[in-house]
Parts: sequence; structure tokens; C-alpha cells
Amino acid sequence: MAKDKLIGVDLGGTTIKFAILTAEGEIQQKWSIRTNILDEGSHIVPDIIDSINHHLDLYQLDKDRIIGIGMGTPGTVDLENGTVKGAFNLNWKETQNVREQIEAGTGLPLTMDNDANAAALGEQWRGAGNNQPDVAFITLGTGVGGGLINDGKLIHGVAGAGGEVGHMIVEPGGYLCTCGNYGCLEQYASATGVVHLAQDFAEAYVGNSKLKAMVDNGEEVTSKIVFDLAKEGDYLANEVVDKVAYYLGLASANISNILNPSSVVIGGGVSAAGKFLLDRVEKNFKQFAFKSTRDVTEVKLAELGNDAGAYGAASLARNSDRVIA
Ligand SMILES: [Zn+2]
Repeated sequence: MAKDKLIGVDLGGTTIKFAILTAEGEIQQKWSIRTNILDEGSHIVPDIIDSINHHLDLYQLDKDRIIGIGMGTPGTVDLENGTVKGAFNLNWKETQNVREQIEAGTGLPLTMDNDANAAALGEQWRGAGNNQPDVAFITLGTGVGGGLINDGKLIHGVAGAGGEVGHMIVEPGGYLCTCGNYGCLEQYASATGVVHLAQDFAEAYVGNSKLKAMVDNGEEVTSKIVFDLAKEGDYLANEVVDKVAYYLGLASANISNILNPSSVVIGGGVSAAGKFLLDRVEKNFKQFAFKSTRDVTEVKLAELGNDAGAYGAASLARNSDRVIA
């Protein structure tokens, strides 16, 4: 039987998303289950196995037709051994033998990578990256993650830390980061980073601003509120957005000067601010980028939203030569 289907799994701290795709990357079926992190996350892998087996039965899809399973996961993935460690939001305290278990439970080959790398591959293959071989991806959420694809392949580096764009220093001596360094992009362009900037700007500002009033009154400020107020013309909120765009433009230019990608794709919750943010990032990018990359590299918004992880996971399986012995 010809192998013509891919399974993509996007493992997250609250839900596990699944998709069955054609080899060309059309999603044919998708579903999701809650992530059960109880008992040190010991139910997660068995739940994934059961869900895949159940749905293949349900759709009467013969396993011989499956090219493989790809999965994006939180934590650090040991690509060679197929293990995951440090996935604290899954409650995984010890290193997990994920590949061995899923392959034994499904009889299908599994290829994994971390969730940000999987999302990067998804956008590169089926989203804003237009299936071009050189694409950089930055995702702005509670943290800042990313993935770099060079010549069609994810960059992993020697310790799997390749593409950790969130920890690029954009402000030497700046805000303290969870990684121990000061001034990482994550501290300025994540949802919490935007709020941190808003609080500091509000303290130093003496003019009229709804954002300042909210901060001064101790009201809860979110990154969405900052962007919404900026769109309404709030002066201080616009100062904050300008600063966020400055850091993102600087980071995008630095990445591009090294990689010279066809696009830098910006995704994640904070990027919901859309073109309003993108235009300002682009302006800064143009200012900082080296001429030959400035002329060819486009700064773009991600297009796949929550499906990026499943597409990218399927892409991992598609590009893998892993077979079950
Ligand atoms: Zn950092």
C-alpha cells in the first residue's frame, strides 16, 4: 500500500492537537484532547498513543498508509535518542523515553522537535514562509521562542539551542531574564515584556494617558490593552509599541544579517496586534539590516495560527528517514 498520509501532533501544556494530513500538507482530519499532567505527566504519552490508534480506527485508515508521526513538544528534545527533558509545564520531572513508547504503542515511526521549531517548520512549509528554504520564525507569547530554517533544515546547533532567538540580547544591561542574562528579547517583546515596558514608561511619564492612569491606579494591564490603547491614539501606549517594534526590528535585522532568509515570520499571541505592529517592526528592520538582506528579506505575520504546530510536526515526519526496524 502506498504511504501517503502524515500525522502531526502538537503537544502543549493544556491541549494536545492532532492532525492527519496528505503528504502535500493538506489537513484532512484534526482533533484535540486535554493534556492530563497529573501523576508527573505519566498519562500523556499513553493518551497520545490511544488517541492516534482510536482515530486511525475511526477513519478506517490503514497504518501502512502512514508515512510517520511528527511531534512538537515543550522541553529539550534529544534528537538522537528520542527523549524529552525539562518539559516543566507537562510535569515531566525526569527524562522521558517518548519516541520508544510511541513507536511501540502505534507501530509507526516518530520524529520529534521542540514546539517552537515545529511551529517554525509549519509556517515555512504551509504558511507565510511560502515553502522557501530559508525562513526565520519568531513567536511572541508568554515568552519569545523561534526557529531558524536554513537550506530547508532546522538549525539545532551542538546543544539544541540553535534558534533560541528569545535570548538574543537587544539591550545590554537591560531587564533581568529568566535565563540569568540581562536584556534578552523575551523581556521586551513577550506579553509580560510589553507590560513591563508599559509600567516603566508610565512611571517616567508626566503627560495625559489612559495607559498611565491604569498603571498608576494599579489596574491590570495586559499586552492586548497596551496595543488597543495605542490604536486608539494613546501617546504613552504608542511609545511602548514603538519600543517593542524597535527591539523586534533590531532582532529581525540581526537574524537576517546572519541567515539572509526570504522572510522573518512573526507569530504568537502578541502578533495578534497585526499590521499595526508589523509596519513599525519593518521600519526598524529596514534601518538595521545590512543592505543586501534588507532588499530581499520580508518581515511578515504568521498565517497558520494554532495549526502551525501540527503542520510543522507533520513536516518533521515528512522530512524524516526514520523507519521502524
Ligand atoms: Zn534570556
